[in-house]
Amino acid sequence: MLDGYKRICFNHAMKLLPYLDIHTHRRLPHEDSVSVDSLSIEELKLMQTSREYSTAGIHPWWLEDYTQDEISELQNNILKLLQAGKVWGIGETGLDRTMPELMDRQLELFFWHLDLAHQFELPLVIHNVRSGSDFLGVMKEKKPNTPWIFHDFRGNEEMVKSLLRLHPDCYFSFGISLDNSPQIRELLPVIPLENLFLETDDQKHLDIHDIYLRASQQLGLDLDFLKSQIWHNFKKITRFPQ
Ligand SMILES: [Zn+2]
Repeated sequence: MLDGYKRICFNHAMKLLPYLDIHTHRRLPHEDSVSVDSLSIEELKLMQTSREYSTAGIHPWWLEDYTQDEISELQNNILKLLQAGKVWGIGETGLDRTMPELMDRQLELFFWHLDLAHQFELPLVIHNVRSGSDFLGVMKEKKPNTPWIFHDFRGNEEMVKSLLRLHPDCYFSFGISLDNSPQIRELLPVIPLENLFLETDDQKHLDIHDIYLRASQQLGLDLDFLKSQIWHNFKKITRFPQ
């Protein structure tokens, strides 16, 4: 048991922990939060990382809008950023079944990112649209050995359990869906707390403080406790503190 003074210090330290936004495309730093910024095409072209933590990767949607030469140039820059130790993780990358005609190229590109994650021992931030079973197949084949963070996760309980069974170092992140999806609000308590993250993604009007509040209410947890748990999760998977 903590005595009175130690308890006050402990509570104070918990309050000082920042809010963590594990995946964002916005550049809106708050005083009391830390973000993991997914680098934009422009930032990748300029090899410009963010002030805090950055992830570098090629979004599957970019395959629709950019030529193979442009994608190759981005791949070169991502490799250079990795070699320079400038990024916290790899992504956002992944698979999107709403673009079935590009599935082969998406998979090829995802494997490229996965190889880099293994080579540089870094977490992957994953875009998953109706591709849960594809990822299960990839896991069986490739045996991932670095953290996989499924951002804006929209799967169900069965998928969460299957993914964790194959790869216990999986994380599930939630943002806008806590506002607009009753299914995801129901799913939230199923996620082990040590595998949970929260995010703003590209939602212009979403505030990370509100997401934490929403999640803490849904989970019936004290807000400071949730902050400390998520901060602990972040520290656990941060390979190279920046
Ligand atoms: Zn995103």
